[in-house]
Amino acid sequence: MMNRNEVGVILRNLGELRTRIEGKSILVTGGAGFLGSWICEVLVELGARVICLDNLVSGLKTNVAPLMEKANFTFIEHDITRPIFFDEPLDLIMHLASRASPFEFEKYPIQILKANTLGIWIALGIAKQHHARFLYTSTSEVYGAATEIPTPEEYRGNVNPIGQRSCYDEAKRCGESFVIAYKMEHNLDVRIARIFNTYGPRMRPEGVYGRVIPRFIDQALRNNPLTIFGDGTQTRSFCYVTDQIEGLLKLAFIDEGSGLVVNIGTDEEITILELAKIIKELTQSESELAFQPLPQDDPPRRRPDLRKAKEVLGWEPKIGLREGLGRTIRYFQEMKEC
Ligand code: UDP
Repeated sequence: MMNRNEVGVILRNLGELRTRIEGKSILVTGGAGFLGSWICEVLVELGARVICLDNLVSGLKTNVAPLMEKANFTFIEHDITRPIFFDEPLDLIMHLASRASPFEFEKYPIQILKANTLGIWIALGIAKQHHARFLYTSTSEVYGAATEIPTPEEYRGNVNPIGQRSCYDEAKRCGESFVIAYKMEHNLDVRIARIFNTYGPRMRPEGVYGRVIPRFIDQALRNNPLTIFGDGTQTRSFCYVTDQIEGLLKLAFIDEGSGLVVNIGTDEEITILELAKIIKELTQSESELAFQPLPQDDPPRRRPDLRKAKEVLGWEPKIGLREGLGRTIRYFQEMKEC
């Protein structure tokens, strides 16, 4: 039920771009993950031929289960850091494969480094072979602890190369470098999305997968303490998944977009303490707030400059934080009841 609503919103927002997607052959790496599975679902719905590649270490087969019976969807369990070849033509490669949770940075730094270096090298090789367009999902983490807020695409970053987050930050920076190298040397049509904190249904709340919003919602629904790292004065700007997917697809499908690097997120900035209070209120939870040590290099502020996205994609986020949180909370409540 929920899925139909979210997909419907994305389809509506895509407008005339929808017609460009039908009949295209698209490879989505990390296609069973949180963002990847929404992308696959929308593309399948619009009549693209979708090949979803995932090694299922953080993606879930259940995320794409409803697509398995569709004639225009193929699932391949494969780790993109190893070579793979396709005989059929491909029009677009979307490289999303990578673990993306700070808890995973500590536990699986080598997999993260590989997905965004060896993995992107393989994915770009496929794009080169097929003369396909390439979209890379990079991250606001390439800016590190940004000193310019809101952060524009021109900002060059403030990253600790040997800190706990370096496996992600530096790997994504290297990934961007790979993308630009393939454009320079092979004239590949490439686009880079810098994704800022995104949330919504299909995020995993548990263990090493949990980002702050699914964790807080899960904790609140169980009346467990909400674990606030540091004093909670650090900020983030949270983008609802339907807005993020619309932005990514617009970047992938606009004409004359080669070489574009665009921030995609929302600029509604909020402290983590305030976020915890809103989630407590929306879930009517009895949870206490439990303050825990701040992880190393946790960026103190994060907020994108979205002027470029508005200008070149004609895109801006539409779902406010309270509405998006309400939708996400309903999803987690439904999951608990299942
Ligand atoms: N955070 C928190 N409690 C948690 C999980 C995260 O206070 O249980 C904080 C974290 O320290 C960071 C923010 O929430 O400042 C966002 O964390 P997330 O893991 O979602 O992603 P990040 O933006 O750090 O990549």
